[in-house]
Amino acid sequence: MAKKNPPVTRPSREEAEAAITTLIKWIGEDPNREGLKETPRRVVKAFEEYFSGYNMSAADVLSKSFSEDMAGYNEPVLIRDIEVESRCEHHMAPFIGRAHVAYIPNGRILGLSKIARVVDVFAHRMQVQERLTSEIALAIEKYAKPKGVAVFIEAEHFCMKVRGAHQGHSETVTTRFLGAYKTDVNLRNQFFASIRK
Ligand SMILES: [Zn+2]
Repeated sequence: MAKKNPPVTRPSREEAEAAITTLIKWIGEDPNREGLKETPRRVVKAFEEYFSGYNMSAADVLSKSFSEDMAGYNEPVLIRDIEVESRCEHHMAPFIGRAHVAYIPNGRILGLSKIARVVDVFAHRMQVQERLTSEIALAIEKYAKPKGVAVFIEAEHFCMKVRGAHQGHSETVTTRFLGAYKTDVNLRNQFFASIRK
């Protein structure tokens, strides 16, 4: 069995702010300079937003699916161009782009806004784009039990844009297919065609 890491004790807000002050000093700046005085407080507040996904779960968002009368609707449902705003766990730099999520209902449908919200839940955590893509697909599979799920994410990684490789325009594309999308190449092609505008 893999050894579990011991639980992390969460530092206080003051300790988190002190850590930002340390970083400010480490880059050679004066944390008492007028413009920087409030910076640790603001950065910690911003971190609360960036990582708000740890206070939410996919279950909170997706546990209510609906078994409405859909008059026989059993074609894919696609939500295109969901904004993705996440942070890479290697550099804590933003990666920003779009997700396209499709599922084929199996008697149950999800509220459309729920799909965008579940993207948010996983995006607002320390991430790699590959895992983010999978976590969205697996959560929809788990809670909506659809015939298939497709998740496609295209994003620009600021850790590649502004540091390291300095690739200002490259985009990273990841896909995860489950169920019917995994086995049926026609469904995948239809998905790719419908996410193109
Ligand atoms: Zn990175």
